[in-house]
Amino acid sequence: MHGLGFYQRTINVLLVVGFLLLASFGYLRLQAGSTGMMLREQIVAADTRIIPDYELPPVQDGRVPVILRIPTAKPVVFLTLDDGMTRRPEMIAELRRHHIKASLFLNDIYAREDPAFFRTLVRNGSVIENHTLSHADLASLSYEDQATEICNNSTKMNTAFGHQPRLLRAPYGSYNDDTRRAAASCGMRALVQWHAKVNGGSIQYQDGKGKLEAGDIVLMHFRPEFEDDLRAFVTATREAGLKPQLLEDWLL
Ligand SMILES: [Zn+2]
Repeated sequence: MHGLGFYQRTINVLLVVGFLLLASFGYLRLQAGSTGMMLREQIVAADTRIIPDYELPPVQDGRVPVILRIPTAKPVVFLTLDDGMTRRPEMIAELRRHHIKASLFLNDIYAREDPAFFRTLVRNGSVIENHTLSHADLASLSYEDQATEICNNSTKMNTAFGHQPRLLRAPYGSYNDDTRRAAASCGMRALVQWHAKVNGGSIQYQDGKGKLEAGDIVLMHFRPEFEDDLRAFVTATREAGLKPQLLEDWLL
């Protein structure tokens, strides 16, 4: 015969086992819920990708092609972020909040000050490209000095971020025939300039246009007014019915 104490202990054990089962069931449901959310996010992200209908011209006669915008009727626009002088965590958060990936044309003189900042952007889907070592006015330099500015910056970017840049942007928009040849010799696939830029919280259009158009490449900078600039870009993009896409998905 068992005493009352035995039954009481048995009931306690059963209660504890029951509690543990319920707790682990709840935990599994939470896990399943967050996996479901992640899947939904991925599906939404996949939905926003538009199939490219453009092919980058090849390097010809040792010169990279110059790209100002992408000739397409598809509702796409491309954000490029230059230099890297100002860096704040809020910039990363804002890009993420708007689901925007950008091409980052960096100079080693700024990128080396805070590689962790740019690494986080890369983890979120942005891609590192080349903007010369020292933000050089390329057209004023000899062929050899241009090649040093471009090739050495690519090496620095590759060392810091594990990615070999394939696109060059000339600082100040200053380039000549030597730039296109030097870029090709450094493994660049294109010289990418721009067709609209964001400055002081508003968009400056080229060719007297008043709005963004399909295929536009937009220039923005890592500046103190980054959040205002990004808001202007997002608003203009929505008003024009365009979706930001990654330049590399269309060019490379
Ligand atoms: Zn620049």
